[in-house]
Amino acid sequence: MTAQIEIKNITKRYGSLTVLDNISLSIAANEFMVFLGPSGCGKSTLLRMIAGLEAVDEGEIAINGKRIDNLPPGKRGLAMVFQNYAIYPHMSVAENMAFGLKNISVEKSVIDARIKEAARMLEISHLLERKPNQLSGGQRQRVAIGRAIVKEPEAFLFDEPLSNLDAALRVRTRVELAQLRNRVASTMIFVTHDQIEAMTLADRIVVLNNRKIEQIGEPMEIYSRPVSEFVARFVGSPT
Ligand code: ADP
Ligand code: MG
Repeated sequence: MTAQIEIKNITKRYGSLTVLDNISLSIAANEFMVFLGPSGCGKSTLLRMIAGLEAVDEGEIAINGKRIDNLPPGKRGLAMVFQNYAIYPHMSVAENMAFGLKNISVEKSVIDARIKEAARMLEISHLLERKPNQLSGGQRQRVAIGRAIVKEPEAFLFDEPLSNLDAALRVRTRVELAQLRNRVASTMIFVTHDQIEAMTLADRIVVLNNRKIEQIGEPMEIYSRPVSEFVARFVGSPT
């Protein structure tokens, strides 16, 4: 199963600050959707509301036609990959990857098989018994992605997963994410402030700015037909 995600009239405030103002968009099953925008525009907040890590003030979020905005994160069928990896230092790589599955009662043999397969795909099979402090930043990021893969989620949510990697590794991991996307049939939402990442990974891009959606479209459409000065400047369209 893969998720079709519907976001309807979402508003989010922190105290008197309105971060997102009446946002609506649909993400198709198996789509690679990128949320692109400058720092502080609400990308993470929107993703965290989909994940269930932030409450929605107004509006609805539905997955495959069912409202999920009142469900706890673990019941939404989603897996999130964070910028800072969020892996546990006291657990081995294999234990980290198994962690999210233990409390949804997946059988041990199934867990082991999924870990083996994900580790093979991510080329971290030889690292499964290591602790995170024995890994490079790029390897830690793979573990975080592996932990999401073994959950077999209906959608993957990535919050700037490449931004802590150095330039060369960022490019390589970006290419690998594109490959992963072809192997794992799942909806993907990818948050970034980097227009090159957005252009190379996305089926469609949502450009966010100043509490609103500026434009939604395919990368070439956004690039060659920006609807506003802001979009043109942000994606570096020729003038
Ligand atoms: P982005 O991910 O696009 O950089 P965020 O979603 O993290 O933006 O933040 C959007 C705005 O909301 C920013 O102004 C940020 O300072 C504010 N914000 C984010 N989280 C909180 C919070 N927990 N409490 C108060 N303000 C927050
Ligand atoms: Mg953010």
